[in-house]
Amino acid sequence: TSVLEIKNLHVEIDGKEILKGVDLTLKQGEIHAVMGPNGTGKSTLAQAIMGHPRYEVTQGEILLDGEDVLEMEVDERAQAGLFLGMQYPSEITGVTTSDFLRSAINSHREEGDEINLMQFIKKLDKNMEHLEIDQDMATRYLNEGFSGGEKKRNEILQLMMLEPKFGILDEIDSGLDIDALAVVSKGINKLRGEKFGSLIITHYQRLLNYIEPDFVHVMMRGKIVKSGGKELSERLETEGYDWIKEELGIDD
Ligand code: ADP
Ligand code: MG
Ligand code: MG
Repeated sequence: TSVLEIKNLHVEIDGKEILKGVDLTLKQGEIHAVMGPNGTGKSTLAQAIMGHPRYEVTQGEILLDGEDVLEMEVDERAQAGLFLGMQYPSEITGVTTSDFLRSAINSHREEGDEINLMQFIKKLDKNMEHLEIDQDMATRYLNEGFSGGEKKRNEILQLMMLEPKFGILDEIDSGLDIDALAVVSKGINKLRGEKFGSLIITHYQRLLNYIEPDFVHVMMRGKIVKSGGKELSERLETEGYDWIKEELGIDD
């Protein structure tokens, strides 16, 4: 079982401290939800884990099975088994979804051990069917002209094709209607198991009706201020965040 450990993580953007000491341990087989009001640093946590250059880690550690993730380049982090789903996926002109996925899979494999074309197509078809994605998406340029919902489905398709050790999904639910939400959740639930761990960042409890988290963490002002189980997200749904602020003596 792989373990992703985040210890006392401090992150700055343009010299401003956003994360102020985040501790979180994620094991394969577990699904953790990170919730919290807007602007509290949830995306910053995801970006720092993946190594976005704008996010400067000033203190703390990120370890994947004891290896120092902060020393790795972005592509090395992906190689090591980390996957980041983006809140705003980018369009890539000139590369079809299918080509992109195949080279992404192969970039995680040794030379000579590339995925066989037939195997690839079979896996792609199966996963696209599971996610109710139109066959023709495979031959379209990645994310170009995709609707918001199609981009999100495509992110999950990437996740299912790459089978990373850990998937970090930042607001994968934003802008999705109920049908798309159900499908996206179905993909994540299919991956669920002892070979997959996930950090699901969401502003809303709604997603967690479809994907039952093992742990729920609340982030406020750059820190995880409360952790619990599913009941925590349910309480947030009915009562909002004010009671936590009161508990912590924060007034704003
Ligand atoms: P969340 O995902 O919880 O909504 P973010 O991590 O996106 O929060 O943002 C945390 C804080 O960092 C906010 O105050 C936001 O304004 C600031 N911030 C985020 N991204 C940038 C950026 N690229 N440049 C400057 N400030 C940023
Ligand atoms: Mg935000
Ligand atoms: Mg965010």
